[in-house]
Amino acid sequence: MEPKVTKTRAAVLHKPFVVEMEERELGSLNPNDVLIKVMAVGVCGSDVHYYEKGKIGSKKVEKPLIQGHECAGLVIETGDKVTSLEPGDRVAIEPGISCGICTECKEGKYNLCSHVAFLSSPPKDGAFSEYIIHPDHLLFKIPDNVTFEEATLIEPLSVGLHGLSRAQMKADSSVLISGMGPIGLTAIIAAKSFGALNIIATDIEPLRLEIARKLGATHIIDVSRQNLLKTVQELTNSHGVDVVIETSGQEQAVKSTVDVVKKGGNISAIGFSRLDHIGINFYKLLQKEVSIHGVFRYTNTYQHGVDILASKKFKTDLLLTDFYPLEKVREALERARINKSTSIKVIIRPHN
Ligand SMILES: [Zn+2]
Ligand SMILES: [Zn+2]
Repeated sequence: MEPKVTKTRAAVLHKPFVVEMEERELGSLNPNDVLIKVMAVGVCGSDVHYYEKGKIGSKKVEKPLIQGHECAGLVIETGDKVTSLEPGDRVAIEPGISCGICTECKEGKYNLCSHVAFLSSPPKDGAFSEYIIHPDHLLFKIPDNVTFEEATLIEPLSVGLHGLSRAQMKADSSVLISGMGPIGLTAIIAAKSFGALNIIATDIEPLRLEIARKLGATHIIDVSRQNLLKTVQELTNSHGVDVVIETSGQEQAVKSTVDVVKKGGNISAIGFSRLDHIGINFYKLLQKEVSIHGVFRYTNTYQHGVDILASKKFKTDLLLTDFYPLEKVREALERARINKSTSIKVIIRPHN
């Protein structure tokens, strides 16, 4: 059927560094679809990458693209078959629409679906838009004590939650989180929610390490000035940590994961690297019987993310640093691109 709102204004990426405001048709509202007024969208590193280069790996912006996938909004209208939501509900939006019928989907690994339409990943348009239409099963109600801006954090938080599950994180596991970008910082929140007592955060930016401490890291290591391995050994009685969450994608950081993990420990590799190949000490990998897990996006983390934010145990305001209206998406992307040390999450508010 035709939705109540048929057109939306959106910020559209045409080619690197060129973003224009345009009016777009919203299309039809299918029985399981929901029309959402987009209230907040986080700028992701991947948005900045497409904005700068026009591609990530083999994924290219071949036609004008609406970016943005870390989003939350207000339900305006629901399709005929939607029973779980009604107009006025506030929701976090899980961005990946998987096919549901391929082998990976059937195995529950819907993050690996080859047919996924993921908001802002070309050619699928994203959420730097006043309104979007999205399937009901990917919308998660947020309580009144969680702001729309906070709810955008569920997307990066989900990656850490998935990485910790892959690494068989347990309540008393010690964790080293490498790289304090938004994924690393939200992974501290994720690790705390798993019950981690020892969380070691590493980076080279003192400011980000300070935020890591405020979010709940029990130890911080500035790897540009401190010896990583020696410090980790001191902190773990020479055992190493149970779990390593690598979010930086930096060659040296990836290589050192097998040094700092304990015998029989688990490593989750999350951060994308510029390099296709990174050498790991193979002897140590075998001798220590280390497990390395690749991590791509996440599955079934959104409700957990909502619950974590609703607990109000975490200083999420430390992560939400810059705010822009829809007309200023280009400025917002520039801010995120250039000001990497003090801007953690740049947020677009389409209705400001
Ligand atoms: Zn993202
Ligand atoms: Zn699938």
